[in-house]
Amino acid sequence: GLHTAMDARPLSSSSAAASTGIWAEGLLRNKVAIVTGGGAGIGLACVKALAQAGATVVAVDIDEQACRAVEAWNSDLAVSVMTGDVRSRAQIQDIVKHTVERHGALDIMVANAGIVRTADFLDMSDKDFDDVLDINLKGVFITCQEAARQMVKQKEQTPGRGGSIITMSSVNAVLAIPTAAGYNAAKGGVSSLTRCMALGLAPHGIRVNAIGPGSIQTQVLQSVVTDEAARHRMLSRTPLGRIGDPEEIGQIAVFLASPAASYITGQTIYADGGRLALNYTCE
Ligand code: NAD
Repeated sequence: GLHTAMDARPLSSSSAAASTGIWAEGLLRNKVAIVTGGGAGIGLACVKALAQAGATVVAVDIDEQACRAVEAWNSDLAVSVMTGDVRSRAQIQDIVKHTVERHGALDIMVANAGIVRTADFLDMSDKDFDDVLDINLKGVFITCQEAARQMVKQKEQTPGRGGSIITMSSVNAVLAIPTAAGYNAAKGGVSSLTRCMALGLAPHGIRVNAIGPGSIQTQVLQSVVTDEAARHRMLSRTPLGRIGDPEEIGQIAVFLASPAASYITGQTIYADGGRLALNYTCE
């Protein structure tokens, strides 16, 4: 595995990742993955990157139209789609069961589904706060717990079989958006939950890590960065001087899922164009 990773093409330093994928083909051969929120944005990029690295991928999304977009992504790779809501334990159980029946195992879970609700702190409603926590935090708990139960079960049958769980945190696990209290609380929770799960599952050889994206070009970003001034502010606080591409997150999911990351667990890997490093500048 490690050998394959070292054969991978190097990351282009000038621009966004190439759509063909950075990691060697076949790095995730024989692996089976589920990606929640896999119908759009970062989740869809994870679906494509994992499939391009050789995994069989089941994309899960609550949005029918997003599901159809995955189906329309015409490729000969092993990608299928299921509608599902990460808030429903019964639905996630069904999806895991179906995946294992159809593909034999579950090796990789990417708990990516998430939403944003914004309001000034004094005006934020219980509903907005609860909706964000239900999907972005409780949904991650349900999704990862169901995946872990399957992984532990299959490892008892096939010792040596690995498991990698990846959650989608954010730079906002540590950087406060004044108008997104629920979102910030949920993302801090995701990084913390990720460490708990890493410790709880280490005895089973299952690794759990979070990805912490900065500003990535998706629908969610468009809903938060609404005008030119906000866009300028965001870029002025991004040392690399550009918004990230969803593919650049997909490549991290491939790395974390692969044997190249075999000693990494409990981490949040930030991909933020240098944003967090700015917190340490003395200028
Ligand atoms: P997106 O809106 O483009 O995609 C999210 C997908 O999740 C959508 O297809 C949506 O239908 C699906 N979804 C929503 N609720 C769901 C539910 N209950 N069950 C199943 N699927 C559901 O958003 P994105 O920007 O790709 O965000 C993906 C993740 O990355 C989120 O967790 C988000 O918080 C995180 N993130 C995004 C950014 C960014 O800049 N875009 C930065 C940091 C973190």
